Amino acid sequence: MSNNNTVAYKLGNSLYLNVTNRCSNDCVFCIKKTNKGIGYDLTLSEEPSLQSLLNAVGDPLGYDEIVFCGYGEPLTRIELVIAASKELKRLGAKSIRINTNGQANLIHGKNVVPELAGLVDVVSISLNAQNATAYGELSQPLKVNPEEAFEAVLEFARECKKHIPRVVLSVVKWPGVDIAACGRIADDLGVDFRVREYMGNG
Ligand code: SF4
Repeated sequence: MSNNNTVAYKLGNSLYLNVTNRCSNDCVFCIKKTNKGIGYDLTLSEEPSLQSLLNAVGDPLGYDEIVFCGYGEPLTRIELVIAASKELKRLGAKSIRINTNGQANLIHGKNVVPELAGLVDVVSISLNAQNATAYGELSQPLKVNPEEAFEAVLEFARECKKHIPRVVLSVVKWPGVDIAACGRIADDLGVDFRVREYMGNG
């Protein structure tokens, strides 16, 4: 366990915020399972407060986008994400994105998506798989069975489509993932689709 506490890190002209290591999944390809999947050690010795997060960002005008991401599910800390987004927007942030596993409504036991409306410009949801069976094998949800988790992800995407300007479903190229079938799910939902290369081979 590292004592590193990287809260913000830059990739291209985007600033990524690492707010928690907690997650409701245990994906087989999670960068948590590798040493240096993206070149930064994102193990948090403690979760950042709102103020320390804002301090780590500094002036948001210097970035094309601010992304809540990290070694865990950022919407585990939805209150922090909302408070930080409000302040970053007030300071002129051009675009705010959340990279999420799509289980926030399961985690919080209610529909939280409307709370993100007007603050978040892009939500990128890890679909990961074409059906609940494959989702269970790849994402290994910790709190509910794969069917419930997969349906919750789809429902989250439908809700985001109502409230967020841009919604993306993403998959990682991985054995057993039917990319074409995942793309059809995105099409049916009327959202964008992105295929990612596995990054965790450090
Ligand atoms: S949802 Fe993301 S953070 Fe959570 S286990 Fe999967 S890859 Fe890791």
